[in-house]
Amino acid sequence: MADIPFSCSCGDIRGTLHSATPQGGNHVRCYCSACRAAALYTTGIDPENRGVELFQTTPDKISFQQGHSKLSVFSFTPRKLLRFRASCCGVQMFTMLPTPKFALAGIMTDCLEDCSAIGPVASEAFIPQDDGSTKHSSALKIYGGTIWRALVARVTGRWKQTPFFDIATGKPIAPVYVPSAEERATLPF
Ligand SMILES: [Zn+2]
Ligand SMILES: [Zn+2]
Repeated sequence: MADIPFSCSCGDIRGTLHSATPQGGNHVRCYCSACRAAALYTTGIDPENRGVELFQTTPDKISFQQGHSKLSVFSFTPRKLLRFRASCCGVQMFTMLPTPKFALAGIMTDCLEDCSAIGPVASEAFIPQDDGSTKHSSALKIYGGTIWRALVARVTGRWKQTPFFDIATGKPIAPVYVPSAEERATLPF
């Protein structure tokens, strides 16, 4: 178990992923088109078919030591998934469901100083298949673990410990920006 420092790429935003273990979350590589589009949108670099890596845990495990107010939020699908990025350098740092009541936070592992405490990638999501469909590996780990952790957080009240939402209003800490049709058109998927 370890406390892992994280930061945006310029270092203005800094924080800690607390008590990280391979069992305390899900280290996943996601190949979905939205993650690919988000990576290209935020960095200008297309991850192509390599996917993006994140560690899914609960928001109470994440704290900020500096630059919290520099987080901004965007979403391609505001009712489904919010993406928190650094307004200073643009990188995407977190993914989040649009309600704090389902306690799920994904932290992009590129932001972590050291990934050894969370172990290697344990599951893969939306893996492209030859017939054009997608499938998940370790689907139970992706969904079962995530739902179980969120349920425990809900029952214990830990869901209220989130640096990403105003619990009084249920709204994210920054307005949700939805990329325009023109911006979206520059993303080839
Ligand atoms: Zn994805
Ligand atoms: Zn930054």
